Amino acid sequence: MRKKIVAGNWKMNLSLEEGQRLTSEILHQYANVINKQVSVVLNPPFPHLYPVKNLIGETQGIFLGAQNCSDKESGAFTGEVSAKILASFGVSHVILGHSERREYFKEGDALLATKVNQALAHDLTPIFCCGESLQTREEGNHISVVRAQLTASLFHLSAEEFSKVVIAYEPIWAIGTGKTATADQAQEMHQALRAHIAATYGKELAESISILYGGSANPGNAKELFAKPDVDGGLIGGASLKAGDFLEIICSF
Ligand code: PEP
Repeated sequence: MRKKIVAGNWKMNLSLEEGQRLTSEILHQYANVINKQVSVVLNPPFPHLYPVKNLIGETQGIFLGAQNCSDKESGAFTGEVSAKILASFGVSHVILGHSERREYFKEGDALLATKVNQALAHDLTPIFCCGESLQTREEGNHISVVRAQLTASLFHLSAEEFSKVVIAYEPIWAIGTGKTATADQAQEMHQALRAHIAATYGKELAESISILYGGSANPGNAKELFAKPDVDGGLIGGASLKAGDFLEIICSF
């Protein structure tokens, strides 16, 4: 069975103290969660990672993720954080290809492919984001555009490497806008991406890849989204900043 995953992307929010408080609340409420089949990934800003790791401690089912990593191994790259450094203190996941990084930091397919390589070389699980603009959807090209994002940044991987990747479909028009894709729209895309993966890597591998939905997911719509056969969880932005909402989403399977 595919892994169910709910990842929280805190983006550039919360002071260190607020981040620690949020983590403590999540851990406190998570202790009462009965269905622990869902893997939870907390992706705070870089300076929060180590304190959050210490709070998570040995808690089973909760993982630590970064929101980005360098495409370089190490060296004179001021301001960058490498996958190697992240892995050295227990970070296990990294969000790559988020539309905000693609748009505001001009991260393109080739750079993202290199970042994916770095993450995998250091045993970090890439949570690889993909998604189309509103214009692309309105033109009816959404599936081909998102398939092309996967091809360009992931399809150089060996089957063994690819099997370690998590995909997050995040339509740009749904991120932070309050406009969620319908469960049917998410299912259509997830199914198309799985078929695309199957065409290159085979059905068995494609069936094992977790594909998360992201874009204004919240406690009110998570159940319907997660009920779809190809939706294996969520990448949650705004709603991951409130412990109660985040836990409700975790419990929506
Ligand atoms: C995100 O940025 O990954 C995201 C899904 O944000 P939101 O849930 O706030 O739309």
